[in-house]
Amino acid sequence: MKKPSILVLYTGGTIGMMKDPKTGSLVPFDFGNIYQNMPILRNLDYVIDFYSFEHLIDSSNMTPEFWIELAEKIEENYEKYDGFVVLHGSDTMAYSASALSFMLENLAKPVVFTGSQLPMGMVRSDGRENFVTSIEIAASKINGVPCAPEVSIFFENQLLRGNRATKFNAENFNAFSSGNYPTLADVGIKIKYNREFIAKPSGGKLIVHKKFDRNVGILKLFPGITLDFVKHALNTPGLKGVIMETFGSGNAPTTEWFLDELADAIRKGLIIYNVTQCKSGSVEMGRYETSLNLDKIGVISGYDITTESALAKMMYLLGEGFSRSDVKKYLQQSLRGEMTV
Ligand code: ASP
Repeated sequence: MKKPSILVLYTGGTIGMMKDPKTGSLVPFDFGNIYQNMPILRNLDYVIDFYSFEHLIDSSNMTPEFWIELAEKIEENYEKYDGFVVLHGSDTMAYSASALSFMLENLAKPVVFTGSQLPMGMVRSDGRENFVTSIEIAASKINGVPCAPEVSIFFENQLLRGNRATKFNAENFNAFSSGNYPTLADVGIKIKYNREFIAKPSGGKLIVHKKFDRNVGILKLFPGITLDFVKHALNTPGLKGVIMETFGSGNAPTTEWFLDELADAIRKGLIIYNVTQCKSGSVEMGRYETSLNLDKIGVISGYDITTESALAKMMYLLGEGFSRSDVKKYLQQSLRGEMTV
């Protein structure tokens, strides 16, 4: 029988970092060191190939251009491998996994993002387990069918849907949560796949979307927000879409100036997407008077989408060049399982 084949794509991040002897801070190291630190990889009965991006980055430097490079590498190698593991810093991993989920339409193979809180070279590193389990997940098949054929994030002991995950802890090994969608797999002695929650491939050919529009922004509401701040944010030159992080189930101040600013921006063509600041639960426009107003002036609901996913989705839809009304329509539909409508 043919051995499972996995392509590991290394982008940078803590998992492959070392201490710079001069400054004492963590900097990315050359990919060759991963084999040195993990001889056990040679024992897996898989074909594991590595591709290291030329510029390894701390994921705080992630850009849509890098997402495109990453998707192109997957596209180039799609037929050759059974699955893909993306080694990525945890800081912006949820954004990248969301972006890739929108880019890879009709994906039928696993793309597992993983990283670590401690560099692989450190004695107590979580990187080794995360890495080995991700490879196993990317290679797992039942009756020839991949167990988790979607863009996911594996950390500590949970496999999460990538566009549902959020980094919620900067220190714990268990760094990601998915407040509105169950785990795709739970990992202990065994890897238990929660089949009913894992995407079923459409059977269509992989289509890779490679355009993003960066003219978007995030406006997080807070008590005491000023007219000047809202005005400046909404009147940013070229701005096409705003993810507005509201309170609770999608609520915002009822102050007249605030609603007028939003209504004015919407009239001029801005798309405002209502996403909750809560890590779990959904926007329900009209449940309170404080969100009914938003509905009336044309703010659209993001239901239970994460901010990371909302941002990637808006950049993707605007980048695809859809009409404004189509962008609004798709924002309110689940395209890759990113929200519950
Ligand atoms: N700052 C790092 C990064 O996101 C943290 C990590 O790798 O987890 O690249």
